[in-house]
Amino acid sequence: MLREKIINAINEVGFDEYKEISSSDIIFADAVFASCKANTCGNYGQNYSCPPLSGDMAENKQRFLKYAHAIIINKIVFLGKYYEKMEESGAQVAELLDQLRQKLEDEPVMIAGPGGCNLCKECAAKLSEPCRFPEQKRYSLEGSGMDIVSMSRKLGMTYNAGDKKVGFFMMVLY
Ligand code: SF4
Repeated sequence: MLREKIINAINEVGFDEYKEISSSDIIFADAVFASCKANTCGNYGQNYSCPPLSGDMAENKQRFLKYAHAIIINKIVFLGKYYEKMEESGAQVAELLDQLRQKLEDEPVMIAGPGGCNLCKECAAKLSEPCRFPEQKRYSLEGSGMDIVSMSRKLGMTYNAGDKKVGFFMMVLY
């Protein structure tokens, strides 16, 4: 029943692909944390859903593996001929994710997405203050150490769609 509700919500919001897996098949890799550290997204140490503030690998795994099932969702977006639409595309994905969260807000699910938690305009981590809404914190796939690129390849999902189109991955756990 819950599974059907989730699938219906995914279809109603309108994503491009989804795959169902057992949460035990989620791939975590220390290299993802290392690449977060080297990355320039600006969230490393500045967002409670990103490393090192998201916790160590064991903590992150535990957070996801307490759910038995996972559905990986993909939305393919166009980044622009000269990548000028990156921000716009990110906002489009965030909007779809918000719609999905609203549809499933009363269900016992956890929804994780790309990037750090965006619940507050500015994460309290930047001010060295405690998280303002720890119960509603939005977890990140990469920020939790998940190797979503390897997983998407393994599952035959689209990461690079060509012509400056890429897949943005999200996950519903239940
Ligand atoms: S709820 Fe606010 S303070 Fe907490 S992780 Fe999210 S953005 Fe940061």
